[in-house]
Amino acid sequence: TRYVYRFGGNVSDGGQGDKNLLGGKGANLDGMASIGLPVPPGFTIATPVCALYYDNGERFPDSLKAEVATGIAHIEGITEKKFGDAADPLLVSVRSGARVSMPGMMDTVLNLGLNDETVVGLAEISGDPRFAWDSYRRFIQMYSDVVLELDHGRFEEALEIAKEDNGYTLDTELTAKDWQKLVEEYKAIVVELWGKPFPQDVHDQLWGAIGAVFGSWQSERAKVYRRLNDIPGDWGTAVNVQAMVFGNMGETSATGVAFTRDPATGENAYYGEFLINAQGEDVVAGIRTPQYLTRAARERAGAKPLSMEEAMPEVYAQLAAVFETLEKHYRDMQDIEFTVERGKLWMLQTRSGKRTAKAALKIAIDMANEGLITREEAILRVDPAALDQLLHPTLDPDAPRDVLTKGLPASPGAASGIAVFDSDTAEKRAAAGESVILVRVETSPEDIHGMHAAKGILTARGGMTSHAAVVARGMGRPCVSGAGTLSIKASEGVMRIGTREVREGEVLTIDGSTGEVMLGAVPTIQPELAGDFGTLMVWADEVRRLKVRTNAETPLDCRTAREFGAEGIGLCRTEHMFFDAARITAVRQMILASDEAGRRAALDKLLPEQRADFTEIFEVMAGLPCTIRLLDPPLHEFLPHEESEFEEVAKAAGLDVETLRRRAAELHEFNPMLGHRGCRLGVTYPEIYEMQARAIFEAACDVAEKSGAAPVPEVMIPLVGTRRELELMKNVVDRAAQAVFADKGRTIDYLVGTMIELPRACLRAGEIAEVGEFFSFGTNDLTQTTLGVSRDDAGRFLTTYVEKGIYARDPFVSIDVEGVGELIGIAAERGRATRPDIKLGICGEHGGDPASIAFCEATGLDYVSASPYRVPIARLAAAQAAL
Ligand code: ADP
Ligand code: MG
Ligand code: MG
Repeated sequence: TRYVYRFGGNVSDGGQGDKNLLGGKGANLDGMASIGLPVPPGFTIATPVCALYYDNGERFPDSLKAEVATGIAHIEGITEKKFGDAADPLLVSVRSGARVSMPGMMDTVLNLGLNDETVVGLAEISGDPRFAWDSYRRFIQMYSDVVLELDHGRFEEALEIAKEDNGYTLDTELTAKDWQKLVEEYKAIVVELWGKPFPQDVHDQLWGAIGAVFGSWQSERAKVYRRLNDIPGDWGTAVNVQAMVFGNMGETSATGVAFTRDPATGENAYYGEFLINAQGEDVVAGIRTPQYLTRAARERAGAKPLSMEEAMPEVYAQLAAVFETLEKHYRDMQDIEFTVERGKLWMLQTRSGKRTAKAALKIAIDMANEGLITREEAILRVDPAALDQLLHPTLDPDAPRDVLTKGLPASPGAASGIAVFDSDTAEKRAAAGESVILVRVETSPEDIHGMHAAKGILTARGGMTSHAAVVARGMGRPCVSGAGTLSIKASEGVMRIGTREVREGEVLTIDGSTGEVMLGAVPTIQPELAGDFGTLMVWADEVRRLKVRTNAETPLDCRTAREFGAEGIGLCRTEHMFFDAARITAVRQMILASDEAGRRAALDKLLPEQRADFTEIFEVMAGLPCTIRLLDPPLHEFLPHEESEFEEVAKAAGLDVETLRRRAAELHEFNPMLGHRGCRLGVTYPEIYEMQARAIFEAACDVAEKSGAAPVPEVMIPLVGTRRELELMKNVVDRAAQAVFADKGRTIDYLVGTMIELPRACLRAGEIAEVGEFFSFGTNDLTQTTLGVSRDDAGRFLTTYVEKGIYARDPFVSIDVEGVGELIGIAAERGRATRPDIKLGICGEHGGDPASIAFCEATGLDYVSASPYRVPIARLAAAQAAL
């Protein structure tokens, strides 16, 4: 098998690039070179080598040496330079590149091939000694950090001291002599920390860097990133070795990053930053403040330093043409790295750009309208989970705000929370339930966990393409970056803005759409659901087969869900209605009654209350199907738990405290989840379900009478395991219906069915369907009962289970397709065999999870049901599943 694939100079071993083999970066370098764009020549060591390397005890396969030599020869041939040649040395970069981009997670080494001899040659041949020594010190610094793993703080310190000694503020002020002197200091630091001199053999350097790139695949931060993004550990990374081009060759050289459209808003305008006389990472590292790419952006920001469009108009025009070519070729918005070496443009990377949900939506719709992609593709382009960002509130423009400072609007959305100055604290306080704003001078890949835990991110340094900005956009966290007037003293737990101070724990609000940073919590308003969002929903509705309902039990939730397009209720949990302060006394009287007569007396008080609940809900859901689940939780959940409450409750219920205590003790269960709950309540106390059924039918008749739009109640019996249970409960419901219909002089269509949440019910679905007219898969409980894992206790071990690959994802978030999924498949098949028109749906939390929705589509269910805010997500996911 071949391990090395060359690109550039009319050679394309990868043939338009397979990302799985070459990694994203390698595939697109090959791709760009193949369509004639200016790409420095290079080669890619394919991703499978990474796995081989680890399987082999971190040793490379035998034939790799020879293949890499061929690759180097390829670059030498095109550049007409020789690797390690003292007179005219070839320098290369060694770059990581996994199948999917993991921004900033993996390592890269630039300027490799420099040593004490070649640096002299480079100085001579370039006629620019300053550039040569700057490149050498960069190389020592980067190699020492990435490959030798020495403390990079020491190198930064030495640079800072050199600047101070000379009275400089910018790196660009250092002269050739200054850099040369610094190189000597760097080499001394290497000897001190590493115990050996800096490697001078360019081949040793190369193999060291290749090993380090593979090594970075197993770094802690890469592992965390993979876990958060569901990237399998066995994919591995590729390694790209590529001829260096230099943006640090003076005023006609530059380096930059750009997006072909605005990644924050989706606007069809080039967007990016660049730095003159700089090398790649300088832009992202926030060492100097980058300049705008376009004149329009510079003017809008009121910035002075010329944009690239103004400073280098010819190269800019070439770059703009490349943007157009790339968008046409890849048919998506691209995120690009480029370098200008003495007026010549070089492309160093392109990939589909990360974007906010808002931008994803706009770009997908625009591209479909431009004819660049089809409507179906537009639907598939938007990540349903990311819609969440759009469905959430923004700052109320009319609310008063105390603006502390303004930074760059790096990732849109508003967030309030307490200021926290380091990622570990952010994670801890977020885990304790606090909303946190992570405030950092700048973020680095070590901050990923803190950024993930935070509601929003604020940095003092860094531009719109800084680490903080890119990662925050990817995570959907609001972010304000580069708030330059902030002075952060993390060790003292304080930040200062002019004369004002904010201490850790004080509440801040950030607006990632404007860049404003405010003291205190600023109120928010609901989002606008028209525009692009509405268009996408219309397109999605045209292609989806699955219906989308909602889990809701209050009129407010029902209204929200309908605005979001819910087509009915998939789960209305009636117990929530019982906790209402005005009713709980009657509920307790019912529970504490010593006989049926006592229970019925209490239930009579509850009947009108329940009827009112359902009336309101049916009015909102006019004419739509509503699945109402009869009482499910164990009764003791309604009794007081605190000793201090007993007295009051006893008094309210008209009982003595002793009786109450005894009854509570009688109701105690060792394992309530598998105890006296669900239809077991209805079997032992049929009068409870009878009251609930009466309330449902009376409400349905009343609403039909009043509005003419009769709801279609679907009465759902929970936790059924046998046909007989369902039959007994259906009789109770049918009798209540007949009694109400006789009373009211009208009938209503209704169904009686069951929630399928026990493995036995799945297996015996054939006979259960003889009675039940619909099945709704209660996948929360079905997951608990199938896996034998308690949802409430799983937190202690489930993360470890996912890390160790026992489950691919948290089975309570995404359906365990192999286990729970097979049971659902069996139940669906057996249920349909008995009753071909049986209605099948899902009402667990999984109903809002796109992967689970794809499973529901594949299994042929009729609908999914999700919480109101997840309804649009489910609509889009259902459309994607159908395509
Ligand atoms: P990352 O994945 O972190 O962006 P890259 O491998 O893309 O890492 O490289 C880091 C920086 O170095 C980028 O700005 C890139 O453009 C620059 N760079 C990489 N290879 C070269 C090269 N051959 N010549 C000049 N700059 C390079
Ligand atoms: Mg890159
Ligand atoms: Mg349940």
